Amino acid sequence: MSDESSNDTLPHYTWPLLLAGQKALVTGANSGIGKAVATGLGRSGADVAINYITDEDVAEAMVKEIEGFGVKAIAVKADVSNEDEVRAMFNTVLDAFGTLDILVANAGLQRDAAYDEMTLEQWNKVISVNLTGQFLCTREAVKEFKRRGVREEVSAAAGKIICMSSVHQVIPWSGHANYASSKGGIDMLMQSMAQELAPLHIRINSIAPGAIRTPINRKVWDSPDAYAKLMKLIPYQRIGEPEDIAQAAVYLASDMSDYVNGSTLFVDGGMTCYPGFATGG
Ligand code: NAD
Repeated sequence: MSDESSNDTLPHYTWPLLLAGQKALVTGANSGIGKAVATGLGRSGADVAINYITDEDVAEAMVKEIEGFGVKAIAVKADVSNEDEVRAMFNTVLDAFGTLDILVANAGLQRDAAYDEMTLEQWNKVISVNLTGQFLCTREAVKEFKRRGVREEVSAAAGKIICMSSVHQVIPWSGHANYASSKGGIDMLMQSMAQELAPLHIRINSIAPGAIRTPINRKVWDSPDAYAKLMKLIPYQRIGEPEDIAQAAVYLASDMSDYVNGSTLFVDGGMTCYPGFATGG
């Protein structure tokens, strides 16, 4: 399905320099949402570290593209579910940039199965990348934010964390119990961090995307039949684009959202408005 046939009225995405001088790390940044977020942060003036686990060539091409916006960029390989690799990644980023202001904990995956057929391996893989991975990365970011405090010249906050959640932190998902559990867990992880760290002026929020056009969910948008079925779930009548999430991430990373803490921003075209009840249920 072409972009034109499914999305004929996209917004005019704009990237004001809201993040000039800030240093950002995006995990799972060389595909889909992470790629758009890393690019959007760079366009908005931040230096960007691109975490990846496969496809080094894509990450390196992104470094060149983002440097073209007049900021610094590096690519850092690490498995976010591996404590040693996460620590090494933060050391690399801090060596390259001096400090960190923004973490977008985005890396995630699915291992779908009917409930009684789900293996422990499928369960553990999803929880370890989607939930434990966010714990490991946010913990390292918080250490740096606490150590350094506010840099008044770039932001009113001592650091900003954006957890990539999903509408499935509130919508149960048959056949995806591991994934929905990981995203429900992210909600409580995010809110607990926000409660604990707000007095230090560290802001933590989540983005809950609906259906976004990326490789993770290709089968729901890459044929006209699938796309028509998807539209029954989306009142706004278009699939989300990765740039829709990038715009939300720039907002949550900037001082425009300085009084937003412990919140989830749903970017879902109204999917969580329960469209099945639009005609009375
Ligand atoms: P994607 O598959 O395009 O990107 C996922 C990225 O995570 C890839 O770069 C992948 O290599 C990386 N990754 C996977 N395991 C990793 C690991 N162990 N360490 C480091 N990186 C790892 O999918 P996407 O749609 O861009 O998903 C990004 C995030 O958005 C995920 O957390 C996903 O759950 C969430 N999300 C996506 C949608 C959607 O509709 N696409 C909806 C809701 C939430």
